Amino acid sequence: GEGRFGKDISEDEVKQALADGIAAILTTVEQGMKFEKADAGPFVVLVCGVNGVGKTTTIGKIAHELHRKGGRKVMLAAGDTFRAAAVEQLEIWAQRSGAGFVKKDFGSDAAALAYEAYEKAKAENADVLLVDTAGRLHNKANLMAELQKIIRVLKKQNENLPHAVLLVLDATTGQNAHEQVRIFREIVNVTGLVVTKLDGSAKGGVVVGLADSFGVPIHMIGVGEQIEDLQPFRAREFAQSLVGLV
Ligand code: GDP
Repeated sequence: GEGRFGKDISEDEVKQALADGIAAILTTVEQGMKFEKADAGPFVVLVCGVNGVGKTTTIGKIAHELHRKGGRKVMLAAGDTFRAAAVEQLEIWAQRSGAGFVKKDFGSDAAALAYEAYEKAKAENADVLLVDTAGRLHNKANLMAELQKIIRVLKKQNENLPHAVLLVLDATTGQNAHEQVRIFREIVNVTGLVVTKLDGSAKGGVVVGLADSFGVPIHMIGVGEQIEDLQPFRAREFAQSLVGLV
């Protein structure tokens, strides 16, 4: 026979072969996120990422998904205490999604906030606590100290905390997204990625690069600014749309 690439091959067959190749890479990082309580307290997720990547929005979307669709009691902690706008935005997302909300005064210690948020979440029997964090990458030493202190302080409550560390990346930043994975992995134990802004433009290629370079699980993708615009990452579907098959 002619084999797969014989002379009668159609454009769609080429696309399908490409999609298969891409899906093979992406499948290695396709991993849904469970948010399952591991102990007496809530499932704690530290959410990291550079300012502007869509961290706050993603937290709101996750809270919505867990609360409205899963019936889970969710609490949000405003850990970026030096950015008033971030705290305000997160509070709005808490209201939209029906989640509880914990903040402290402007400029408070983020680790103290995380500690108190955990105590409150546990006392109120919350299922999931999502902790927003600062994303000022231009001062890496400060950021490292702050994130590591949050983790240290949480571990005083329970050695298993945080149960997950999500890194949020903006697909439209291309190579910067790679750099951000590299840097954040030096600082914290990133357990999974959320890639945002995959709506509209054809920027999905960055996801293939991330999968290939790091092999870190990709849990979810952001596909818009609205509360419903969060999807589980599906390797095959993603590969198909990347090559223009769907
Ligand atoms: P943060 O600084 O990382 O907390 O970022 P924000 O959550 O405030 O988001 C920054 C901007 O990106 C806002 O205008 C959001 O509406 C927008 N944004 C977030 N996620 C997405 C997404 O998946 N798609 C699109 N198109 N915009 C998004």
